[in-house]
Amino acid sequence: MNSAGKYLLISCLLVIVLQVSAQTYQEGNVYYDKNKWVEFIPGNMPLVISVPHGGLINLDSVPDRTCPDAVTVIDSHTQDLAKAIDSVFRRDYHFHPSIVFCNLRRLKVDMNREIELGTCGYDPMRVPWIQWHNWVDTALAMAVKQYGQSVYIDLHAQGHPEQRLELGYLLTPKELEESFKGENDTLYTSKASIKNLIAYHKGKLTLKELLTGPAAFGTWMVESGFPSVPSKQDPFAYANQKYFNGGYNTARYARYPNVFGWQIETNYKGVRDTPDAYYRFAEAFVKNIMRYIATYTTIDVKKMGK
Ligand SMILES: [Zn+2]
Repeated sequence: MNSAGKYLLISCLLVIVLQVSAQTYQEGNVYYDKNKWVEFIPGNMPLVISVPHGGLINLDSVPDRTCPDAVTVIDSHTQDLAKAIDSVFRRDYHFHPSIVFCNLRRLKVDMNREIELGTCGYDPMRVPWIQWHNWVDTALAMAVKQYGQSVYIDLHAQGHPEQRLELGYLLTPKELEESFKGENDTLYTSKASIKNLIAYHKGKLTLKELLTGPAAFGTWMVESGFPSVPSKQDPFAYANQKYFNGGYNTARYARYPNVFGWQIETNYKGVRDTPDAYYRFAEAFVKNIMRYIATYTTIDVKKMGK
C-alpha cells in the first residue's frame, strides 16, 4: 500500500474508533468489538486492570507476528486471574474494577507494544489495537472523573525460575537497588510509575517507602502469602535474576494525570496453576489494593460504587 493509501486507511480506522468512543459505557454491561477480539467490562471503582496477553483466539487469516523484536508468548490464565479479582470484588463489595481484555493471541497482535511492533505492520490488526487502547483510556477517564484518581494495573505472567510476583514500577533492578539504599531518590521518583501518587503527598511519602517499606504493596502481598519483588522482604532483583520492570502500557497509562499504578508479572506456581490459586491470589490482591487506596489516597472507600 502506498503512503497515501495507508494514511487513508488509518484515518478511516480512527473515525471508526472515535465513533465507538463517543458512546457511553454502563457499569454492569460487557462491551466487545464486532468480532469479540477485544472486551471491556466497565467498573465503578478507581481501579482499571488491563490484560493484554491472555487471549487465545488464533486467526489463520492473520499472519503470525515475526517482525524483529516481536514476542509472542501467551500469559496463560491471566484472564482467569482478572475474572477472579472481579468475582471477589463483586462478592465482598458492591463495586468492581474496569477490566480490558485482548482475546486475540499475542502471535497476532501485542497490546503491550507500540502499534507498529504490536501489529508487525499488518494494518488490519490496527483496528483491535486501537480499540483496546481506546477502552483502557476510557476506563481511566471514567475512574478519574468519578473519583479524582485511579489505580492502573497491567496484569501479566512470567516464566522465570523465581516464583514471585514481579511488580514493575518502570525501574530497573539496579535502580531498585539504589532506591532501596536511598540513592538518586529524586531521579527515580520522577521515572517511577507511581510518581503521581508520590507528588500528591508533597514530599511526605517516599518512593522507598512505597516500594520496600512495611506498608508497601509488595510487602503486604508477601505477608498475604505471595512472594513479591520489590518488597521489604525482597527489595530488588539481583543481577543474575530475571525481572520485568514494566512495559509499554505501564509507561503509557500509569503516569497519566491523576493515575498511578504498576505492572504485575505473576509467577505460575501457587498463582496460575489451579482455580483455587486464582482465588487465593485474587483475595490477597483485593485486600491489599483496597488497603493501598485507603492508606494512600483521599478516596472515601465508603462512597465507592455509589
Ligand atoms: Zn505479558
